[in-house]
Amino acid sequence: MEQETKKTVLVVVAHADDMEFMAAGTIARFVDELNFDVYEYILTDNSKGSYRLTEQELVRVSAEEASAAGAILGLKEVRLEGYVDGDLADTPINVLRGQIMAMIREVRADIVMSWDPFAPYEEHPDHRQVAMATLEAAHFSGNPLFYPEHTQPPYQTTELYWFAKAPLNAELFVDISSTIDKKIQALLAHECQMELTVDMLAREADALGMDVPMLQSPDAQTRAQLIEMGIRSFCRDRGAATGVSYAEQFRYERVGMLEAVLGLPPRGSDFA
Ligand SMILES: [Zn+2]
Repeated sequence: MEQETKKTVLVVVAHADDMEFMAAGTIARFVDELNFDVYEYILTDNSKGSYRLTEQELVRVSAEEASAAGAILGLKEVRLEGYVDGDLADTPINVLRGQIMAMIREVRADIVMSWDPFAPYEEHPDHRQVAMATLEAAHFSGNPLFYPEHTQPPYQTTELYWFAKAPLNAELFVDISSTIDKKIQALLAHECQMELTVDMLAREADALGMDVPMLQSPDAQTRAQLIEMGIRSFCRDRGAATGVSYAEQFRYERVGMLEAVLGLPPRGSDFA
């Protein structure tokens, strides 16, 4: 039987810019180099992501920006589920697990990517909730007795890429030197979220009594410079771990036990 190499990737996140911050360089390589189909599933409405806009404005603007960033990265689809930002943990995990599993089955996702359910120190309840629901959905998506009411047939995901702010046992470093510019471009498409990031930095400087001229009423260009500076520095640190210019870091997990049963070495990721 001929080995099928083209894969489908599903990224499940809580907020509009989670994927771009954590994994957009790798996503760009999936699309540009490997020609994989990539889908993004954003569970919340992003309605807490600003110190300036109203909730209604935020829901509309962040959806538009997520779609623009998705176009830059060449995603097949960006889907928003619309749960209230910050309140994802109020939705029972079996409901979220079912919705994520339905999307896995619909797009027939070979690879699923999300926040790492086992990484420590994650303060955001939405990240913790989406992480655990995605873990469960991906592991059981091939079992017909889970959510038999789904209209799409079961489909077994086989590879998981987990990202985290404080990665643990995350030994996969993907070289994104060729896609760092695209990652930055995709992030900057999230204008209201980047404004929030810079507003948060300004409040932090205030709280610490630090005088940072770039943070005093920054215009769009200064904001972009700050974001670019931050992303390059973050990805440069990860690149240094493996001797490349820029990298993103994941805990890579293979679902199943076939190789163990057959006594074969486990297959690595497409970037190993
Ligand atoms: Zn987030």
